[in-house]
Amino acid sequence: MPRAKQLQRARGKDEAASPLDVTRRRNVQAALRDSEERYRRTFELAGSGLAQVDLDGRFMRVNHRLCEMFGYSEAELVGMSVKDLSHPEDRDAVDERRRKLIAGEVNTLHAEKRYLRKDGSTVWVHVAIAMERDASGEPLYAISVLDDITARKHAEQALRESEARYRSTFELAGSGIGHIGLDRKFIRVNRRLCEILGYPEHELIGMTGRQISHPEDLEVIDTQRKRLYAGEIDHVHLEKRYLRKDGSTVWVAFSMVLERDAEGRPAYEIAIFDDITERKRAERAVRESEERFRSLTQLSSDWYWEQDETFALRFMSQRMGEKTGLAASAFIGRKRWDQPALNLSDEDWARHRAQLERHEPFRDFEMERPNPAGGTRWVSVTGEPVTDENGKFRGYRGVGSDVTERKRAEADLRRAHDELAKKAEELQRSNAELEQFAYVASHDLQEPLRMVSSYTQLLAKRYKDQLPADAQEFMHFTVDGAARMKQLIEDLLAYSRVGTKGRELLPVSLEAPLKRALTNLRAAIPESGASVTSDALPTVDADEVQLAQVFQNLIGNALKFRGKEAPRIHVGALEEAGEWHVSIADNGIGIEPQYFDRIFMLFQRLHAMGEYPGTGIGLAICKKVAERHGGRIWVTSTPGAGSTFHFTLRKKEFP
Ligand code: ADP
Repeated sequence: MPRAKQLQRARGKDEAASPLDVTRRRNVQAALRDSEERYRRTFELAGSGLAQVDLDGRFMRVNHRLCEMFGYSEAELVGMSVKDLSHPEDRDAVDERRRKLIAGEVNTLHAEKRYLRKDGSTVWVHVAIAMERDASGEPLYAISVLDDITARKHAEQALRESEARYRSTFELAGSGIGHIGLDRKFIRVNRRLCEILGYPEHELIGMTGRQISHPEDLEVIDTQRKRLYAGEIDHVHLEKRYLRKDGSTVWVAFSMVLERDAEGRPAYEIAIFDDITERKRAERAVRESEERFRSLTQLSSDWYWEQDETFALRFMSQRMGEKTGLAASAFIGRKRWDQPALNLSDEDWARHRAQLERHEPFRDFEMERPNPAGGTRWVSVTGEPVTDENGKFRGYRGVGSDVTERKRAEADLRRAHDELAKKAEELQRSNAELEQFAYVASHDLQEPLRMVSSYTQLLAKRYKDQLPADAQEFMHFTVDGAARMKQLIEDLLAYSRVGTKGRELLPVSLEAPLKRALTNLRAAIPESGASVTSDALPTVDADEVQLAQVFQNLIGNALKFRGKEAPRIHVGALEEAGEWHVSIADNGIGIEPQYFDRIFMLFQRLHAMGEYPGTGIGLAICKKVAERHGGRIWVTSTPGAGSTFHFTLRKKEFP
């Protein structure tokens, strides 16, 4: 029962009382006063603001704390409407619930709302209201307990803001961020992390990092994590690979700290993931290129060098010393022209120097360096200018090689070539002399031979009848021998004339020499029943008389070495790269392959004189003519079926 009512009742009973009643009543009154006093003190000393509010919503009684809370004096507050004190936005916030409270539908009302202090500032208050009722349950007034929660509200607000800030930082961060529970499963992940690992957020959450780690990097994190949990280190940083959902590998720079609770127990891990795949690729490319460079310089027999912008040598790879035996240290810090080269004059050096000063690349610059151990070494260098990232000239770099062997081989070759040229010249001279001799000899032999044969013939004619039979036979042999000798001498003369009496090579249609040859053979052809056909023949630079001789010899042989059937002879011409290929094919007795080369030599014959007449000079003449025309001659043949003689003539484009 409310204290005021108890008091009232007690006073009412005071009027008609017995002495015993008086004593009891006094006791009761004393007790009541005590209780009233305790209540008042409690009311005043309470940490919370306390108020009695009448049914119209006006303060009936307020404690000191409440006055402090609102910044009004007690006198000002009592009689003031609670609603007027409320923050405009919260004024009607509890109306409905207050109605329910008064109606007895609810026992208490709790709310958090704002009030305006006297100085206009806002105070956040937690208010709890209960109704006091009389014995019949009629509402008498409300008791309100008010607590200032401004500080908490501000803290909450700040927390909310910081939470929001944190969220957006989490989401917008360029790095992948994940919160990882003590069971190693992702609790929270940001968008970037999902991108890096290639999993959608809902799949990633609940997964462990281990599940998606590259098999080779599974263990790398374990020791560090142990140390982190043990408090030996305050963060983990390492680089490792993860397998993305699509199977590709991503290189990640992984950093992790451990969040602990208020008692210092591990709560969860915060991990930052940065995609360094590109960097790793670049690093690998650099490594590979260095590796390539290293193995190149190791495997190559050449060496590498660098000069600074003053052309002083700054670096020389070891290979230089190994290859040349020259001491690389002797060159370091010096310019190329500071040391002697036997092959270069001052002008040569000046030219090279000027080229370098123009920052031009150069190739195969050769120096014959004296070797301290004796002799010289030939060194060849190739270089290009080096510029920095701003395009400023920084010097030269290049390669060098020892070319001593090549230089010596070149010198040997030159010597050998000179000797050969001298020999060829001598040979030519002696050939010419020989030809001259053959020509003179055969020419001079003709005259006495003519004497021998004409007088032998005269002798035979005049004294034939007076001679015995055997002398007549001897006479016959003598005439025959003289005739053969005449033929031999004529052929030899023809042979020697190819070199000495050849005419200038002029454009000639091959039809002309062929016709001339056939005219010379006009008796032999019908006699043997031969047919001679030919392709259309080209025009070439040639000595017409000599080519007529070639055709005549080859066609003449085809008639002479005929088989059982009548000779069929075909002259063909084929255009080939840079030359004409002429062929004379027959259906004669053919030639065994082992004689293919021999028959072109002087006096070489395959048959006895009685079998087929001849001197063995015809093909030698053909060979000489072909060679004089810059061509070749050869034969293909099937014994018994026929032979084909081939020769080539240099082609010339005629306008
Ligand atoms: P010769 O005809 O005066 O004997 P050649 O130099 O013209 O001399 O020929 C050399 C040899 O080559 C001949 O003796 C013959 O044995 C062989 N020969 C040349 N032409 C033919 C041919 N068309 N068929 C077969 N053998 C040939």
